[in-house]
Amino acid sequence: PTLSNQISAGEVVERPSSVVKELVENSIDAHSRDIDVAVKGSGLDQIKVTDDGIGIEPDDVKTAFMRHATSKIHNRRDLFQVDTLGFRGEALPSIASVADVDLKTSTGGEGTEIRINGGKLIGIQPAEARRGTIITVNDLFFNTPARLKYMKSPATELSRITDVIDRLALGHPKIAFSLIHNHHEMLRTAGRGNLQQVIGSIYGINKVKKMLAVKAHNNDFKLWGYVSLPELTRASRNYITIILNGRYIKNRAIADAVIKGYGSKLMVRRYPIAVINIQMDPILVDPNVHPSKTTVRVSKEPSLCHLITTMIMNRLSHQNL
Ligand code: ADP
Ligand code: MG
Repeated sequence: PTLSNQISAGEVVERPSSVVKELVENSIDAHSRDIDVAVKGSGLDQIKVTDDGIGIEPDDVKTAFMRHATSKIHNRRDLFQVDTLGFRGEALPSIASVADVDLKTSTGGEGTEIRINGGKLIGIQPAEARRGTIITVNDLFFNTPARLKYMKSPATELSRITDVIDRLALGHPKIAFSLIHNHHEMLRTAGRGNLQQVIGSIYGINKVKKMLAVKAHNNDFKLWGYVSLPELTRASRNYITIILNGRYIKNRAIADAVIKGYGSKLMVRRYPIAVINIQMDPILVDPNVHPSKTTVRVSKEPSLCHLITTMIMNRLSHQNL
């Protein structure tokens, strides 16, 4: 089992930011309201996620580290209507197979602490813990030297981690997130459910005045979010965030549709800041394309893209420019 977990770790945990993503998504799925992430170095040294979610029952703690053990889907039908961020049951066993993991959790009663190193159970015992889960991942990739060679500079790995937290925070304005690097606070969101506030915390509070609220809908899609004025742009399309049914996704066609909404108003090689939420029938979405779950298949994509482009065009034409 250790070997197959290491193989799937190759797909699920490519780099420190993928670990952060999987752990924070678990905290979100556990209905946390407060999620604190602490990272040391490039994340290879230590990643620690503390949440105040539902926790794991003592009897289920070992199972959570078993391959394809998920508490989130129960049958084939669920797989076609995934409403949690996780569903493959791969993250914890994968991470634990390539790191030294300590997890402390409680559902409110007696807690449990488990330690797994390179896929080997080191110990499991009752522990005092408040409701929620604290997971600490040390020495990531210590037993997979080839993977270590693929790491970029600490600054690059850290910026990928920041990017992950930014997008998860943008998708979940009701959750208060914090990211601490070494002892330096990189991000803190209020968790008051105000998307504009989250955009402010991430991109700088003064810029929020330059963000325009947008919304639109048709029979299949409901859209809402914020787009920047054409003068507030960035040098990469990285500042366009697409959130589909609460999951941030990477989708070139949809990002292009956002840019197209600006027509000729953008300067060359400048891109808007935008956060677009899409709500649609989960039946029409397939997130099970890749283990990272950020690539999804969307039915009626052309109609969605058209709706996005016209929504932004209309909003900008109502703005006195
Ligand atoms: P998945 O998220 O796909 O179900 P994971 O390997 O990420 O698989 O997690 C396995 C299981 O461990 C989850 O289904 C969940 O029951 C439990 N779990 C993991 N992290 C947490 C957490 N922070 N709070 C509560 N339960 C958790
Ligand atoms: Mg998960």
